[in-house]
Amino acid sequence: MVRHLSGLSATQLQELAASLGEKPFRGKQLFDHLHQRNATQLDAIAVLPASFRQKLLDDEYEACSLTVSEVQTSIDRTVKLGLETADGHLIETVLIPMDTGKFTQCISSQIGCALGCAVCMTGTLGLRRNLTAAEIVDQIRVARRDHPDCEVRNIVFMGMGEPLNNIPAVVAAVSILQSPRGLSLSPRRITVSTAGVVPGIAQLGKEAEVLLAVSLNAPNQAIRERLMPIARMYPLEELMAALKAWPLPPRRRLTLEYVLVAGINDQPEHARELVRLISHIRCKINLIPFNPFPGTSLESPPDKAIQDFFDILSRKDVVVTIRKSRGQDIQAACGQLAGSRGSKFRDL
Ligand code: SF4
Repeated sequence: MVRHLSGLSATQLQELAASLGEKPFRGKQLFDHLHQRNATQLDAIAVLPASFRQKLLDDEYEACSLTVSEVQTSIDRTVKLGLETADGHLIETVLIPMDTGKFTQCISSQIGCALGCAVCMTGTLGLRRNLTAAEIVDQIRVARRDHPDCEVRNIVFMGMGEPLNNIPAVVAAVSILQSPRGLSLSPRRITVSTAGVVPGIAQLGKEAEVLLAVSLNAPNQAIRERLMPIARMYPLEELMAALKAWPLPPRRRLTLEYVLVAGINDQPEHARELVRLISHIRCKINLIPFNPFPGTSLESPPDKAIQDFFDILSRKDVVVTIRKSRGQDIQAACGQLAGSRGSKFRDL
């Protein structure tokens, strides 16, 4: 079975080197070349003895777990990469341009998703499997290798899948991304977004130092159940209690995502109810006009309804933004990720 080196910590690579009869520092060299120099081929790591590289190849270790299957670039400079795993699944990652000229990279944590949120195309696919730590980290490494002009400043776990249903791999990947020997990303540059897996919120808070975002999408339990089936398992009241307990550093805010859907959660009374719901949480609200996808009957609200909703929140001193949708022309916008070649994905 092929194994991928990019998901192993520096310590694990040292242990691996020792187990293959090499000096442990060779493991550290390997880590440095994978994550600082971004080597995606073992052959490219010339500093390692050829005999060590051969032993790794003989044991079916590889430097990178993903191959590029498709690249699409939007008119707004958003880049969507379709990536193929070693066992033939397709996942997607998106490079999103920011106003500063830098990029945010949206990465996937699972192949498909079991949660079936009505606002999201990934949810129509069901869950195939969790991604490994290597497959999470390699989305970033492949993008760095192939798109060096897109300087990534922030990583958001908002692609395919529910990260808190794959905490071990997410935490291992975050640890590699934050390692001083790796990309050395600061905690405020990594955001993990959940649909509201309540026990996972507490666990993530203990195991990783990251920013938290939550797809709220509703001001009350009834609407949340309609849009997010997970609300039946973890009611809104329990979710809000978990958010209050999140270890929020001073001067930081939780991000609450609110996808506005015409006629369901976009009315002025919903905005007022939302203000009351979040009154005890230090947060900012991202309003995201619904991005339609094939097969959904949901619609985005008219511009006036979006603006009215925004104005009600603003007048109550809620920190709120309307998120610009990027990459809509290449199905790369929020909620639209489903595998570039959807038919192949579904056939697996
Ligand atoms: S929004 Fe997130 S949790 Fe919900 S179905 Fe889509 S990928 Fe899964």
